[in-house]
Amino acid sequence: MKTVLKTVSRSGFEVAGRAFLWLVILTTFGLFGVFLFYLLPQVMQFAGVIIVALVLGWLAADFITGLIHWFGDTWGKPSWPILGKYFIEDFRIHHIEPQKICEHDFVYMCASSFFFAPYVIVGGIYILLQGDVVGVFVGTIIVSMAMWGALTNLFHKWAHDNPVNVPRLAKWLQRTRIILSPDHHQVHHTYPHLSYYAITNGWVNYVLEKIKFFRALEWIICKLFRTTPRQS
Ligand SMILES: [Zn+2]
Ligand SMILES: [Zn+2]
Repeated sequence: MKTVLKTVSRSGFEVAGRAFLWLVILTTFGLFGVFLFYLLPQVMQFAGVIIVALVLGWLAADFITGLIHWFGDTWGKPSWPILGKYFIEDFRIHHIEPQKICEHDFVYMCASSFFFAPYVIVGGIYILLQGDVVGVFVGTIIVSMAMWGALTNLFHKWAHDNPVNVPRLAKWLQRTRIILSPDHHQVHHTYPHLSYYAITNGWVNYVLEKIKFFRALEWIICKLFRTTPRQS
């Protein structure tokens, strides 16, 4: 009886959790729709500015996902409370069993990446509504970054998935390198997993590797905090 109750309450908890995640995902797309509603009337006037801002947001998302990924791989510990179990542990498992990511469904994949997007998009809409060219430029960068960033876990999954499970549009986006391609991401999955951390589209990886960005950042952090990277 006890086991039955436990199973029922856990499945109820899971259903509520998934309903909440759907709400977050739908809110994100809804807010993106609001942003487009205010942006579209200005497209003709600021076309060049908007295109540049969209590209910058796309690159900014790539950089930020790289930074988060590097942080998890380099400094994160599975023993950390909450974050360790639900975030860092996944990073460790992913290096050992990369294909396991393909077992997760859309809602699970979007759980962590969509969580902060609504707040960021609200900020982008607020800036856009300031009404001048700077508002259009900065607001579009922020919202572009939020949307590409929110969808990154999905791009990452597609980079590992069997091609028969990847939608045709996603395959085209991979081929044109608009989103992370399987070949590019494979470089990170080559031991010792110390390069190509960015996983939205991967373009910033070339620059970050060239300037040894993450090794330099690790050197600074080690000097400042007298610590050692990759302790667990
Ligand atoms: Zn990694
Ligand atoms: Zn991967």
